[in-house]
Amino acid sequence: MVTLSKEEAAALQASIGQVSRRVAAALQAAPAREHVLQFVTHLHAGIDKTVAQAMQRGLPPACQPGCDSCCHLRVEASQAEALHIARHLRQGGPQQVQRLRQRLLWRQAQGQAAGPLARLACVFLQDGLCSIYALRPASCRKAHSFSAAACRSQAAEIPQDLSITLAAEALQGGCAAGYRQAGLAAAALELTAAMLWALDEAAEAAWLAGRDSMPD
Ligand code: SF4
Repeated sequence: MVTLSKEEAAALQASIGQVSRRVAAALQAAPAREHVLQFVTHLHAGIDKTVAQAMQRGLPPACQPGCDSCCHLRVEASQAEALHIARHLRQGGPQQVQRLRQRLLWRQAQGQAAGPLARLACVFLQDGLCSIYALRPASCRKAHSFSAAACRSQAAEIPQDLSITLAAEALQGGCAAGYRQAGLAAAALELTAAMLWALDEAAEAAWLAGRDSMPD
């Protein structure tokens, strides 16, 4: 957890406010269901751009393909992100969805048995790589480290670029606030629970109608 100065906290809140107004206006101008879910790709592109620009300015991160320490930590996704992922995964057909649902339920049971501090692999991690890389949530996109050793040793402090973290949080927080202003729920849920919720046939329509049923 990063401790911000008063000025940094105020700047972050101002950025969240600016982003939220732009997001709410964009969603209200184009409320069609395709657009509302597709809108998360703008958030993702914004975070990817922020990360890339920061990397060009500073040291390259230690993160490499196959380095999956952060895929064993708690990851959250917004409801819109989970529905966006679910929509793509459904294209694989009902059997693939059923297999994924079983893996998610198994992973959820594993998490409940092991407790909140356990380091368990994300259900989408396969052979050390993210199987939904292009669709991965904003929390995964902003994750970075300047020390693979610190990640591997589960150090309390992972060296990071604060400018990336703050810019990503402004985009994520602003996007969530914009969705809420447009009448859509925008809770950040643990990824396994979020996907079990989003894969329910009725979830997308209920969420778009402002009647989302939150997972327990
Ligand atoms: S969604 Fe992909 S990047 Fe994110 S934790 Fe899971 S495997 Fe890792």
